[in-house]
Formats: sequence, structure tokens, C-alpha cells
Amino acid sequence: MVSNLHHSSYILLIGCFTSYTYLHESRFPLDDTQSDALAHARGGLVSDLPIYLDGFATLPLAPEARDAMLEVWSRPGNAGSPNASGERAARYIADGRADVAALIGAAPAEIFFTGGATEANNLAVLGAVRRAAPLFPGRRRIVVSAIEHKAVLEPARILENEGFTLTFAPVDDVGRLDLDAFEALLGEDVLLASIMMVNNETGVIQPVAEAAALVHRVGGLFHSDAAQAAGKVEIDVLDLDLDYLSLSAHKCYGPMGVGALYVAAHAPKPLPLIHGGGQQDAVRPGTEPVALIAGFGAAAKAAQQSLERDRRHGETLVAALLEALSSRQLRFRRVTGDAQVVAGSVTIQLVGVDADRLCATAARYVSLSTGSACTSGQIKRSHVLEAIGLSESDSAQVVRIFCHRYQEIDDIKAAAERIATAAARSRLATGEVRQ
Ligand code: PLP
Repeated sequence: MVSNLHHSSYILLIGCFTSYTYLHESRFPLDDTQSDALAHARGGLVSDLPIYLDGFATLPLAPEARDAMLEVWSRPGNAGSPNASGERAARYIADGRADVAALIGAAPAEIFFTGGATEANNLAVLGAVRRAAPLFPGRRRIVVSAIEHKAVLEPARILENEGFTLTFAPVDDVGRLDLDAFEALLGEDVLLASIMMVNNETGVIQPVAEAAALVHRVGGLFHSDAAQAAGKVEIDVLDLDLDYLSLSAHKCYGPMGVGALYVAAHAPKPLPLIHGGGQQDAVRPGTEPVALIAGFGAAAKAAQQSLERDRRHGETLVAALLEALSSRQLRFRRVTGDAQVVAGSVTIQLVGVDADRLCATAARYVSLSTGSACTSGQIKRSHVLEAIGLSESDSAQVVRIFCHRYQEIDDIKAAAERIATAAARSRLATGEVRQ
């Protein structure tokens, strides 16, 4: 793909970029400990840590989430206990559940807390299929997109081993689900289809409402992994007409180790993957982690309140990043072309630069992620970039970036400087440029 493009087209021209002084403190009034925690989250200019551009992997904890958790941790209580402390814990959980539900337009009773989106995806794919299969004996096929997270792909493969047929839906060359191809794959034998809302390597927003409508037309169930979407794009499960939706707290400025599965009131309740005390309707038993749930709820509430502000801020930061890279004459192209991406995200191919080497060279100053993963000691190309049609060598030049809520333009400009310097070094090291 890249070889067909002229040199100049690699350099993205960012129009309408205006100098932007958006003081964090004016948007979010903070006390001293919160400021300190966020200074560390920003890194770079305000602390000795690297500037954090790896927001697809995890996002810094929102001060609201941190405060909520500190409050709960200082007040012991098990929601299952018949005493005042237990009742208080149950109230924290009810509040957290209501805030998470509100973020996606669900009813609180439709939210089941899990240990994260990995578990939520497993519960949706394995649990829902195993529950629904005996109800719909003629339906033995699962359809997933080729770019799903491993937490969907692996459970889907387990179902394949249990006798279900697994079909992969392709994406186009900018990483968007190919709806025509998807529709052609659907039939009355489909039990469940799973299409993610935002991809975790490209940030591309997927046509989930259209996909759900197509699946429902053939009578199948529809699940969406919204780990990278919740708190960043508006979600209304009723408008989208979803049966199941997976969430992860740490991808929306909440704590790690908690997530949720939305199960529409009308949808079959997933069979539990673990068994125990019967909490959460026995769909997901186990003592609820009260503090994590309170943190998740607070993060969800904060995200809902700043959805539009975060969107504008993310777009501004990405524009600043691309302009700064262009001004350093760095040759790059956006892998996602004209596809709509989640604000704050950008996935670029740095032409002639080995991305892993770049990340290692810049690691002291900037935290970045590449389009490859180290599995069993071997560097493997990302299945997402492969599905988009990138060659192995092009994929090896891809970095994925997510600029987060608490960063400022100066952080991003400083990061761009470091990336440009590291790219020049990596080019020299790989022999692309000889001086
Ligand atoms: N789904 C997507 C799209 C993700 O990006 C991730 C995290 O990388 C997950 C699921 C897993 O989420 P968790 O870390 O909450 O288990």
C-alpha cells in the first residue's frame, strides 16, 4: 500500500490548527494529592516519568475514581452481610451499578460486574451461547469480526471445539467492518455475532447499530465489546439494540480489575462461568469488590459528564501531535485512512522505521505501543493489521497512540519531539538513511 504513495502524501497536513492553551486545572479543579497523582499520569514535563501515550492499554485513574475508592476502603463491609456495614456496602454497589448503567443507557438490573472486559467477553460469548443453544437447536454458528480482541476470539474458538461453527467477518482496508460481507455471512443458523465497538489497535469506530440490526433480522443474538468505547463515545444500548455489551473500568479512567457485562432484560441470561454464593443473580457469583465498583461508577459518571469535552480535547491533542511530527519532516501515514476513530487515538505507520526499535529507543521519554506483540519469545504481527491488509513489513512500522484526558498540548509536542528523534535514530540503525 505504502509503496504506491508519493513521499509527500505521507506528511499529513493539519489544517485549522490553532494555538491552544487549555489549562487542565481550569477544567478540573483538583486538590494537592489529586494534582500530584495526575502529574504522574501526565509524565514527561511535570514528572520524571515518560509521557504516557499508551492509553489503549490502560488509562490513568480519574481523581473521582480514586477518591471514591479511598472512601470505601476506609469503611469495611460485605454487601451480603445482614448488618449496617453490609447495607452501606450494598448502597455503594447500587450507586456504582446505577452510574455504570447510566453511561450506556441501561437499567441497573441489566449490569453484572466482572473482573474486567476479558471476563465480560467470556461470559457473553461462552455463557450466552451455552445458555441459548438448547433454546435454538437449529442455530450452531458464531460470527465474529476478524479484528476482535483475543478475549472474544479465544472463547469463540472454545465454542468451535464444542461443535459450533465459527465464521470471521472481514474488515476493509481502513479497519472498518465490511457490512456487505458481514450481511452475506449471516443466516438463520447464526446463534451469536460479536462485533466490537472500537478497535483497540486502530481506534476505528465500528458500525455496531447496523451490524446488530442485520443479526436481529436473521434472529441471532448480538454482543459488542465496548471496552475501548465506553466513556469515549456515546452509547445507548436501546438505540443500538444490543443484547450484550462488555465494559472495562480501566479503559475509561477507572480502576483495573473490574468490568461489567450488560445483559438486556429480554436476552437469555448467560450461564455462569464460575459457581459460588449466588451473588448477582448467580450469573457472576463472588463477593463484589465494593471499592472497585465504586471507582468504576465514579469514573463512569465523570466520563459521561466530560464526554464532549474529552472528545474535543482528544482531537486537539492528536492534531497537535500530527502537526508536530509533520514539522519534523517525519514520513508517516494514518493506517485508518478516512475511517472515524475514537478521539485521542491515532495509529500511524512511520515509513522506514522499525516500530519496536523506536519504542525501545524512546522508552525513557515516551510510552508507546506497536502493531506487534511478543508471544512465546517471538514477535508476531497483529491480527488486526493483518486483517486490514498490511504487509508484515508495513505492520512492523506501526505505532498506536492514545492521548488522554489529563494531557496538555505541551506534553504532546514534547512527545512528538522525542518520537521524531527516536525515529531518526531507528532509521539510521536499520540502514534506511545513510549519512
Ligand atoms: N476488549 C478490548 C477491545 C480491549 O482493548 C481489552 C483490553 O486490552 C479487553 C477487551 C480486555 O479488557 P480487561 O483488561 O478489562 O480484561
